[in-house]
Amino acid sequence: MAWFEDLTPCSDPGEGGKPVLAVGWIDHLHPYPRGHASRRFVMRMVELLEDPWQPRRSLGWHDCALCRFTEGPRTFELEGGPRVKLGTSNLFIPAYDRLYIAPSMMVHAVDAHGYAPPEEFVKAVLVCPPMRSPAYLAALRDVAPPWLLDAGPLPRMSAGARLRARSRRTPRLIGSRR
Ligand SMILES: [Zn+2]
Repeated sequence: MAWFEDLTPCSDPGEGGKPVLAVGWIDHLHPYPRGHASRRFVMRMVELLEDPWQPRRSLGWHDCALCRFTEGPRTFELEGGPRVKLGTSNLFIPAYDRLYIAPSMMVHAVDAHGYAPPEEFVKAVLVCPPMRSPAYLAALRDVAPPWLLDAGPLPRMSAGARLRARSRRTPRLIGSRR
């Protein structure tokens, strides 16, 4: 799996638009933050990973780079939640003025390797609208760089749906602006 330090841009600035910030792209060669993560956060991640929006451009397969003898699990399930696939998809989490990209394998790293994602990402996940909902797609449009959206067209929304999505999103997806 490609390594990125948390909250660093993982897209080429030359491609235009705001950078997409990496979260959870950890491996065994670089120290990574460890600590508490709530079950609520992991459950929300799992719910969002059930059918995550993906750009048309494939961003590649990823294994767990921390498991010593295997490539990590292929699925993940938390009691009371759906069983989700790991390794093939990424999670795009829009926040007020930024977009995070996290590998699906991250939920395993939190569960098995003690990885603690940045607090601002955790907050963004907890308030993220349901995956593929009008509110999610509107939030994604607001912060995604053009190349990402060009790579995978978003479903069209009616003007009414757009308005409803915007009114639901207020005041802000994330209360704090850094
Ligand atoms: Zn692992």
